[in-house]
Amino acid sequence: MELDDLYQQIILDHNKKRAGYGLHPGGFPSHQYNPTCGDELTLTVRLSEDGATITAFEWEGKGCSISQASASLMTSEATGMSVIEFESFANGFRDAMRSRGTIALSEDEYGDLAALSGVSKFVARVKCAMLAWVAAEDSLILTRESLN
Ligand code: ZN
Repeated sequence: MELDDLYQQIILDHNKKRAGYGLHPGGFPSHQYNPTCGDELTLTVRLSEDGATITAFEWEGKGCSISQASASLMTSEATGMSVIEFESFANGFRDAMRSRGTIALSEDEYGDLAALSGVSKFVARVKCAMLAWVAAEDSLILTRESLN
């Protein structure tokens, strides 16, 4: 199997699997909309009591397979990270997505999220891949503000 085919398969699998799918009451959901593609996503980050660790991502949305798979992959790879780890993880993901194909996500660090590396070659799709991450960063800010 070619690497591109494998990556395509991971994206299709996560588009179906939707890890983290289902919003529960409470928390600080962030709603994001990508007008270019029509993707919509609402996501809530759940933190540990001390506010230091991400215990869960909850989300619901609809849209293209890249937008949905990115939310599911982020949930799979980033649940359990500290907030500080996640911030740098998200920055690295954003840098790769905006790199126009020049930065690939390493499988060592990003696991199955590396399957999204190829998206950065298609400028119009970058927002699709970033939607869940923008929502997560926004929800994180709102949640952390509530702890102060
Ligand atoms: Zn999309």
